[in-house]
Amino acid sequence: MGIYSEDTATYLWRNGALVPWEEATVHVNAVGHASVAGIFEGLKAYWNADDGQLYLFRMREHYRRFLQSIKMTRFAFDYTLEDLEEATRALMKANAFRRDVYVRPYIFQAGMVRELLQSQPGKPVELVIDSWPFEAYRDPSQALHVCTSSWTRIADNVMPPRLKCFSNYHNGRLAAMEATVSGYDWPVLLDAQGKVTEGPGACLALVRDGAVITPPGTASILESITRDTVGYLVREVLGLPYVERPVDRTELYLADELFFMGTGWEIMPVASVDRLMVGDGAPGSVTDAIREAYAALVRGHDLRRPEWRAAVW
Ligand SMILES: *Cc1c(COP(=O)(O)O)cnc(C)c1O
Repeated sequence: MGIYSEDTATYLWRNGALVPWEEATVHVNAVGHASVAGIFEGLKAYWNADDGQLYLFRMREHYRRFLQSIKMTRFAFDYTLEDLEEATRALMKANAFRRDVYVRPYIFQAGMVRELLQSQPGKPVELVIDSWPFEAYRDPSQALHVCTSSWTRIADNVMPPRLKCFSNYHNGRLAAMEATVSGYDWPVLLDAQGKVTEGPGACLALVRDGAVITPPGTASILESITRDTVGYLVREVLGLPYVERPVDRTELYLADELFFMGTGWEIMPVASVDRLMVGDGAPGSVTDAIREAYAALVRGHDLRRPEWRAAVW
């Protein structure tokens, strides 16, 4: 299986069964592959060596959002929240992971493009839960140089950002490629009114005068679970003000600190925006404190909010 890397999981979970990873194939005419519809989630399981335990962080909230996306896209779906949680635990056990893992559940419409009308509601889906060993995207001491994108963020009445679906990602992909070819690490997308939304796959917060400020849930962002966790950490653990309000582009230029937050990126500091330095260009003290508090909470080194850590074993 030359096209697959060595470092894959042994199994993935598909339509009710554990399937050897290499055998989980899809026909090229499959509507889920050859067309637009697909809903997904991304969550992480953190290995705690002291406990000998793997903790799925906020699995319930991720699957709740998964079911909300499926509802909005009008697919037929019979699995419950409990079914999804149970399947994920079974998959972690089958793969015998003793390290950090990225878990990616997704559905796509079942059947072939040539025989199906995609615009009808109530179509059956296939459900896959894939997983793989995962460390960090990037060393957080290497703060990101970002640009504001010339691509406008999708809107709720166009392609609802609240929906975590494959098709929405083309918007962020265009922005990320533009940023890369222009010599930046990552973009920030603005909405049609010029307000700050988020980056591709991660929300954004700034620190100014000791307060942590982030655009609200109605600002064309995905309702990020990491953002919610950060809100908790800022208020309850660090004891700082946490404010959700519209954010202007120029506030990014004047921020003392700026960081992305998401399951994949975790807490990732930003060094500059449009070549204007954020603070002194190094990760700031509030960002560092949030990053450390987040790392301790997800792995169960900080024992608060035990309901957020679903043990596998
Ligand atoms: C998944 C995602 C995020 C991050 O959400 P988390 O729940 O924190 O992982 C942010 N933005 C977009 C567009 C996403 O798809």
